[in-house]
Amino acid sequence: MNSLKPHWPAFALPDMTLLAGTTALPVSDYFADIDPCTGQAFADIPAATTEHVNRMVEAAHTALHHPDWRAMAPLHREKLLHRWADLIEQDLPRLAALEARDTGKPLSLAEAVDVPTALNWLRTYAGWPTKLAGKSTALAGCPDHFHAYTRREPVGVVAAITPWNFPMVLAMWKLAPALAAGCTVILKPAPESPLSAFRLAELARQAGFPPGVFAVITGAGDIGAALASHPRVRKVAFTGSTATGQKILQASIPDLKRLTLELGGKSPSIICADANLERAIPEAAMACFFNSGQVCYAGTRLYVQRSRYEQVLEGIASHARQQRLGPSWDRSSQLGPLISAQHHAKVSAMLARAEAAGISVVGPVQTVPDTGYYCAPRIYRDVPATAEIAREEIFGPVLVATPFDDIDEAIALANDSDFGLGAHVWSNNLSETHELARRLDVGSVFVNCVLMADPALPFGGMKRSGLGRENGAEVFAAYLEPKSVVIGLR
Ligand code: ADP
Repeated sequence: MNSLKPHWPAFALPDMTLLAGTTALPVSDYFADIDPCTGQAFADIPAATTEHVNRMVEAAHTALHHPDWRAMAPLHREKLLHRWADLIEQDLPRLAALEARDTGKPLSLAEAVDVPTALNWLRTYAGWPTKLAGKSTALAGCPDHFHAYTRREPVGVVAAITPWNFPMVLAMWKLAPALAAGCTVILKPAPESPLSAFRLAELARQAGFPPGVFAVITGAGDIGAALASHPRVRKVAFTGSTATGQKILQASIPDLKRLTLELGGKSPSIICADANLERAIPEAAMACFFNSGQVCYAGTRLYVQRSRYEQVLEGIASHARQQRLGPSWDRSSQLGPLISAQHHAKVSAMLARAEAAGISVVGPVQTVPDTGYYCAPRIYRDVPATAEIAREEIFGPVLVATPFDDIDEAIALANDSDFGLGAHVWSNNLSETHELARRLDVGSVFVNCVLMADPALPFGGMKRSGLGRENGAEVFAAYLEPKSVVIGLR
């Protein structure tokens, strides 16, 4: 079935026998990779078994302790990570095509955002191995007859479990710091979008990573669960739904595994009366509609100071109508379809319930292409804080709007959520922006800008949006165990 026609130029699928190669176990079962733009299956993906999981974890455990990896000079590890980045950079067109094909996102977006962003992360963390030093210290309660110091040991075998919205980027958020720290990693991409993971593994092999240091396993949630609960896996780095994150947290209890969980969001966008609306309107629209709303920290709840409410609603609705919905291979497309028929049905049902409850959309809403799982971007107005669409993550291009009168009310509305991932704020009042940044219960606040996650800054959620932080120097707390050493000198 492995055909990429009719809309795509011929390019080779990545080597998916890697799965069998790493474990020396044949693959006997496959599942279909479906193009969200057509609903057609276009590739057969190996369906791993728990025996594959067991063999792969053993291989990762062996690689962790092998001197080729464990005793590698930090500078050599940096060079290896940079060599991998060079290969990824040279491979940008193909990686972008695989990502667009898998997810349905516009090819131009995968080229401009997905691959370059993954590279930014890899290059940033490629410079870390030589800087991951421990410290030496005098003992607090003893005379100075001791040499006391800390080492930072790799936490062990890491399971990286990722979703389908930014497959390569979110894989690299985990792979780059984990490998920089000297861990070994098994990546389980979402079954909807596995191709870029295989290609990353192929390029890592070409770069010269020792066998077993980085492997890919594909399957559904049961394979993720088998991996996350394997006793030899010491850390799980997960991005996905809150419900699955809770299961992973529960499964971590027997072995007290280290976890980072980057989960759902319902992030507020707050537009104050004095904001520059020429920027706030298109950027608030983009904060919600980008990647067809399939972004964990998308700004999906819009709060606008009452005097500007109608103007902002009309501006964003007009922006929504101008977005060009279309398939990934068409370079004029701005928004692709949702990821799957199942997700499309879930989003449609939620919107139908909102409309049945009398919540009105700022119309008209554009019509969508005939084939593919498209959802037109839209904005609902005067949405009560109790409404399902105001409380639950939709993961589609849907904005819910409510007016506010003063900053205290905006903060109360914004914080009235089970989630606490991100917040976007537009204001030209310096003290107002700092007050909002201080009082919003979220992991990241973006003022007069949107969706600015960066490898230099920690990223993660408060409340049900997650546990721990990825990115920044802070991420190494998740991949390195401090070890204290005390040597008596007399
Ligand atoms: P979504 O509902 O958006 O697909 P999920 O959180 O279910 O989000 O999926 C994110 C990733 O977690 C995918 O790779 C999926 O296969 C995996 N997954 C699903 N269920 C489990 C589980 N119980 N344990 C570990 N991983 C899982």
